[in-house]
Amino acid sequence: MLQIYNTLTRQKEPFEPLVAKQVSMYVCGVTVYDYCHLGHARTYTSADVMLRYFQWRGYGVTYVRNITDIDDKIIKRANENKESMADVTKRFTEAMHEDFAALGLRVPHHEPRATAYVPQMIRLIETLIQKGHAYVAANGDVYFEVRRFAPYGCLSHHDIDQLESGARVEVGAFKRDPLDFVLWKLAKPAEPSWPSPWGEGRPGWHIECSAMSMDLLGQQFDIHGGGRDLIFPHHENEIAQSQAATHESFAKVWVHGGFLQIDKEKMSKSLGNFVTIRDALAEHDPEVLRYFLLASHYRSALIYTDDVLLQIRQSLERFYTALRFHEETESAENTVYEKEFIAAMDDDFNTPIALSVLFELAHEIQRLREQDQAASARHAALLKRLGGVLGILQTSPDVFFQAGVDVDEVNALIAARHKAREEKNWVEADRVRVRLASLSIVLEDGAAGTTWKKTQYTTKT
Ligand code: AMP
Ligand code: ZN
Repeated sequence: MLQIYNTLTRQKEPFEPLVAKQVSMYVCGVTVYDYCHLGHARTYTSADVMLRYFQWRGYGVTYVRNITDIDDKIIKRANENKESMADVTKRFTEAMHEDFAALGLRVPHHEPRATAYVPQMIRLIETLIQKGHAYVAANGDVYFEVRRFAPYGCLSHHDIDQLESGARVEVGAFKRDPLDFVLWKLAKPAEPSWPSPWGEGRPGWHIECSAMSMDLLGQQFDIHGGGRDLIFPHHENEIAQSQAATHESFAKVWVHGGFLQIDKEKMSKSLGNFVTIRDALAEHDPEVLRYFLLASHYRSALIYTDDVLLQIRQSLERFYTALRFHEETESAENTVYEKEFIAAMDDDFNTPIALSVLFELAHEIQRLREQDQAASARHAALLKRLGGVLGILQTSPDVFFQAGVDVDEVNALIAARHKAREEKNWVEADRVRVRLASLSIVLEDGAAGTTWKKTQYTTKT
C-alpha cells in the first residue's frame, strides 16, 4: 500500500484518500515575476511524478497548481520595468508554461490565478472576522489573530511561544501580536487594488491558497504540497485560516520537498544564485534535467553541478542502449521488476530506488538479448512503460542518441569511411574515424549496415 510522509504527523502513513480511488492535490505555484529556476523545476517535477504515479495506479486525480500573480515582488518588478503588473505576470506565466512543458510536466487540471479569486478571498476574510479570528487594525489592514487559533504551530511543530521568539516573523506596529499575519492590505498609491468591505486594497499572500484550494477541491482534500520553505509560515497560516473558517480539518497529507542547492545554499531568486530552467535547457537535454531531478528522493536536498549532469547523461545512455534494436512488442507482465518498482514508489515515492530497479531491468534486457530476443524485447517494452511513470525513456533511442548532431555530416562521413575501406585506403579511413570520434560518434557495424550514436559514455554497447 502507498505510504506518504506527512509533515503534519512527521511519519509515513498509509495513503487513504477521502474518496476511494480519487486524489485531490494542491501544490503552491510560482510567483510569476521572473523566469523559473531549477529549484522550481525540482518541486514541480516531484509533484508531476506523484501525479503520474497516482494515475498509473488507477486513481482519478484532480491536481491544482496555482499562480501567484499579485505580490510585492511582482509590483516592484513591474515598476522597475515600467510595465503593468498584468504584462509582467502574463509574460512570465507563458515562459513558465514553456519551461514546464519542456520538462514534460503534465498540465494541472486547474491553474487558478490569485487575481481571479479576490471575491472568494474577501468572503473568507469576512467569515474569519465574523468568527472572531481576524480583526481590522488601526491602520485599516485586516489581520488574522494567531493566538485565537489554538492548534497554531501544528504543522511546523513549534508552539506559539517558540515561534514568537523566532526571527522570521514580521513585526508590525498595528498587530495585536507579532505572529498575526495580514489577510488584507489597504492600497498604497499606484498599486493594483480591489474594492472590499475594508476599502480599496489587496489580499495578503497566504489567504489566496486557502481560498483557491477550498473553492476547487472542497473544504477538505487529500494532499497539499510545496517546497519545505513553505511549511512556516505559509502553510501553517493556510491551516489556521482555513480551519478557523470552516471548523473542519483542511488538507489531510502535507508533502514538502527538499531544496535544490547550489554551492550548499538553496537556489533562489532572492539570493541571486539561480540557474533558470531555460538556461539549463540550452546546455542539457530536458530528459537529463528531469532524470537529475528524480535521481534523489524528493524530500532530500539535491545539489546541482555540471558534473552530476554528465553522469546522468551516461545513465540515460545506458537505458537507451538497452532500448535499442528491439521489435515493437507487448510489455512483459508480472515481473519482479515491476513489483519492485511499485514497492519503491509505494514507499513515499522513492524515485532513486525505482531508478535502480530500472537499471537492473536494463541489465536483464542486455543479458536476454543473446539468448532470447523476444523476451528481451518484452522487457524493453516494460522498461519504457515504467520509465513513462517517471516521465523518462519515451524518446526513440535513435532520436536520443542523435540529438544535437548534424546527421547529414555524420552520414557523409560514414559513406566516406565505407568507400575508403572498400578502396583499402586506410589513411583516409583513419582520418574519418578520428573526425567521427571528435564528434563523440560511435559506429556500430551490424548485419543491416552501419548505425551510429552520439555518446559520452565510454563503452560501445
Ligand atoms: P516561489 O516562486 O518562490 O513562490 O516558489 C514556488 C515553489 O518553488 C515553492 O513551493 C518553493 O518551495 C519552491 N522552490 C523555490 N526554490 C526552491 C529550491 N531551491 N528547491 C526546491 N524548491 C524550491
Ligand atoms: Zn500557497
